[in-house]
Amino acid sequence: MSIAYIELTNSCNQNCVFCVRPRDNITKLTNESAKKLITKLRETQTLVFTGGEPTIWSGLQEMIVHAKRQGIVSVFIQTNAVRLADKTYTESLKLAGLDKANIALHSHKKEISDSLTQTPGSFVKTLEGIKNVQDLNIDHSISHIITSKNYKHLLDFVKFIQKSFLKPIPLSFIFVRPEISAWDNKWVVPKYSQIEPYLYDALSYCKKQDVPFIVEYIPLCYLRGFETHSVELKRGASNEAFKTHWIDTKKIRKEDQNYIDTLQTKGKQCRLCWLNTICHGVRTNYSAIYGTSELFPVYKKPEEILGS
Ligand code: SF4
Repeated sequence: MSIAYIELTNSCNQNCVFCVRPRDNITKLTNESAKKLITKLRETQTLVFTGGEPTIWSGLQEMIVHAKRQGIVSVFIQTNAVRLADKTYTESLKLAGLDKANIALHSHKKEISDSLTQTPGSFVKTLEGIKNVQDLNIDHSISHIITSKNYKHLLDFVKFIQKSFLKPIPLSFIFVRPEISAWDNKWVVPKYSQIEPYLYDALSYCKKQDVPFIVEYIPLCYLRGFETHSVELKRGASNEAFKTHWIDTKKIRKEDQNYIDTLQTKGKQCRLCWLNTICHGVRTNYSAIYGTSELFPVYKKPEEILGS
């Protein structure tokens, strides 16, 4: 499946403490340049409008229609869902042909969520947005950034999502990337060894309850028994590539796990690890904060994970 991402703007209606989009040089595409890009990317099967926050970019509906007319099969948005609290607006996206919303929500506790987004009232609006998406039968998933403020509540977060919404929701657990805002706010980055027991509780629960989930930016030694849920492992094993249009460079860049690996690193002990050939390590910036001493060799054959 081929995927392309278009950053429509790097502006946002939230101000997350871990945001990885540059905060200087706020800019956005014009309708005309967005249309041209979509036409260029029309061979792709799935097109994802991202940001910043794509729902604050005027003309999103028109671009969804344009993408569908170009023959693109699936059109997604990556959103904080604050604007989706407006049901009329959400309905307009559905009518335009939106297939899926990947919604960011980082806590089941209002105070923690609003403090991570630095936007009072955003938690309530995001929940309303999720309800609207469900009411309108738009496919959706939730992305949850694991930070020092929420890692102890991972299991409670999963249970909250289960009980708050009528339909089951697939979850992405994404370890915070220590870049841009999160680099400036290093306190928001926990250690893998800190999150480990809480992560295993949440993932075990998801598995037992048949909640679909994926995990990103967590090395395989901290995903024992859940390795097949690793985004990097799947992407590396399938040689999957994707294209991203970056608004700051105004270029479309082809990316794959090999490219992402240039931003990752490992420890000396990884040489002893049987999973070394299939593991993608940790972000280099993470090792700049905490080093790599918490990584530990796993004596499990890659075939046991990937199948022979
Ligand atoms: S020890 Fe290194 S190679 Fe092995 S799972 Fe951990 S990070 Fe990956």
